Amino acid sequence: MMNTNYRLVFLGPPGAGKGTQAARITEALAIPHIATGDLFRENVKGATPVGLEVKAFMDRGELVPDRIVIRMVRERLARPDAQKGFLLDGYPRSVPQADALEADLAASKTPLDVVFYMTAPDTLIVERLSGRRVCPSCGRTYHVANIPPRKAGVCDGCGGALVQRDDDKPETVKKRLAVYRDQTEALVARYRKSGLLVDLDGAKEVEPLAREILDVLKKLSSRRTA
Ligand code: AMP
Repeated sequence: MMNTNYRLVFLGPPGAGKGTQAARITEALAIPHIATGDLFRENVKGATPVGLEVKAFMDRGELVPDRIVIRMVRERLARPDAQKGFLLDGYPRSVPQADALEADLAASKTPLDVVFYMTAPDTLIVERLSGRRVCPSCGRTYHVANIPPRKAGVCDGCGGALVQRDDDKPETVKKRLAVYRDQTEALVARYRKSGLLVDLDGAKEVEPLAREILDVLKKLSSRRTA
């Protein structure tokens, strides 16, 4: 049997397909999908103290300050469902975040298994983000042309009305890409050096790419049990 207790990170620019793949992989492995962007959006929607603190950063397409993100992820990873594995989608996104994660996981002797690095050309990223629609109720993600819902504008999963994220508007997308290059891309070299990185072509179709990811994990699991 495939061991499914993985600790995974999805790294890559916005629009590379991290969220779409993460949803499939976490369903297949039955591990929690921890997307910091989703957690922040829930906080903003619920007008929590964290939500009020982070909204302006998100609207500008900037990173939320490290201390806020690090604390939120620390609390999330301490919950019981994350003890058997997890997939971090969109975290870490800066050197201090990667340092904090490494220190916490070293302390609990539960290091990361794989960092999947997804990339796609900028033209494709812009096309994907401008066509992306999300369900604010359940978080499912669609694309008007590539991953359309069965009924236009309506979530297949819960029937909610689909919306475009404010930060998927062209000006903010440009800013988010620049922020990724400035603050996040450095993590690629770090994880490559530590031998954790697996490169993925985010331009591939959804299903073949999901199979490729599961194959990587299957190989890892047979190596573990060998
Ligand atoms: P995402 O849904 O991953 O594109 O994230 C949406 C927004 O949430 C980002 O543009 C940031 O403002 C914020 N955010 C999400 N994850 C992080 C993170 N790890 N560090 C800092 N800000 C984040």
